[in-house]
Amino acid sequence: MTRIVEFLRSLLLLELLRGMALTGRQLFARKITVQFPEEKTPMSPRFRGLLALRRYPNGEERCIACKLCEAVCPAAAIHIESEARSDGTRRTTRYDIDLVKCIFCGFCEEACPVDAIVLTRTMEYHGEQRGDLHYTKTMLLAVGERNEETIAADRAADAPYR
Ligand code: SF4
Ligand code: SF4
Repeated sequence: MTRIVEFLRSLLLLELLRGMALTGRQLFARKITVQFPEEKTPMSPRFRGLLALRRYPNGEERCIACKLCEAVCPAAAIHIESEARSDGTRRTTRYDIDLVKCIFCGFCEEACPVDAIVLTRTMEYHGEQRGDLHYTKTMLLAVGERNEETIAADRAADAPYR
């Protein structure tokens, strides 16, 4: 009996008609293709993009050279050297991140007690020569300065969930 039904169905081309109906429905459905980079999708405040070092509003570096980020980094991508200043505080003399090694896990950001190292929303960057993705302290601070407004707003929006 089943075979007879299947035979009749194949004669009536029911499967083909069902497939064409599906194609027809998709033809008029709302298109979801995004024309990147002209169009962009919404981004989470927790997006983990290019790393940055932040400063306080008075210009002072936030980083206190505790090296927790270096210790927690699973990719050993962070290299820090530090020394004590004349006022007794400690600051980094070198803070490098090798973005080729970095897996953007965000552990450094979570470990930092003073919100100094953060992952920004920046994802459009590249390197053309060997070493271009080796970010120094100066480069990381510059990323922080360029993005400080967004970083501060994102962290304020996310604060209740931390
Ligand atoms: S995001 Fe993860 S892998 Fe990258 S530097 Fe921070 S801790 Fe290391
Ligand atoms: S960025 Fe944060 S965790 Fe890393 S050394 Fe500086 S203060 Fe410590």
